[in-house]
Amino acid sequence: MSTSERPVILRNLRNYLTFLKDYGFSEIPSDSDIVLKLQPNTNKATLSTSNNEGPTKMKATKSITKKLNISIEKVREALGDCNRCDLHKNRKTIVFGSGNPHAELVFVGEAPGADEDEQGFPFVGRAGKKLTEIIEKGMNLDREKDTYICNIVKCRPPSNRDPKSNEIESCNPFLIKQLQAIKPKAIVALGKPAASTLLGRTVPIMKERGNWYQYEGIPLMLTLHPAYLLRAYTLENRRNVMSDMHKVLAKLKE
Ligand code: URA
Repeated sequence: MSTSERPVILRNLRNYLTFLKDYGFSEIPSDSDIVLKLQPNTNKATLSTSNNEGPTKMKATKSITKKLNISIEKVREALGDCNRCDLHKNRKTIVFGSGNPHAELVFVGEAPGADEDEQGFPFVGRAGKKLTEIIEKGMNLDREKDTYICNIVKCRPPSNRDPKSNEIESCNPFLIKQLQAIKPKAIVALGKPAASTLLGRTVPIMKERGNWYQYEGIPLMLTLHPAYLLRAYTLENRRNVMSDMHKVLAKLKE
């Protein structure tokens, strides 16, 4: 593991463990014979493929990114009436996600705004109309049938400020599980915060949009947020987004 990968791996590990705890697990689920043995009197853990070398304290999956077979309903249930960060204090509704939980394509945005908070669904305001237009007119897909849409945080930040890193981190286990439950063929990150959250680093979106990355083995396309597109409604930005979406359509056909 390189030094630069370490913080990302540790954060993903912590998020995964938090999710399992929230979901009621007291052990790490595994269907392999890999076990994580906690050595007595140390904080060190070793991986072993044998399960008959003394008492097993904890089972571990081979890879932290391994998919659990979990339904989107179970993920919603595990989120509950969330109060894991301060965003719960001002929200009206938890905006979990909408669309087809079996869709091949998932869009991930930033955070609910006032309309979404009011109605309980993501992307139903002005930016949402633009996103719907991109999906339906630009890509010739049906928003509800062909896609699933969610955000990196599920509650509206006051006055639509940017979500804080602790808020994003609190919500991240649920985003991870949503994506693992859906197992789409492709993910589109809408804007810098979504791209940065999914890639675990600060993403210069104007530079990196239009390129394929991987999120837990799933092709991930970065593009501009529809709210940005509305603010900077230039031909170049619109063309860039449509070119990114055509790459996504091609990927779905592979
Ligand atoms: N912007 C987002 O990022 N998400 C929404 O749900 C609405 C606007």
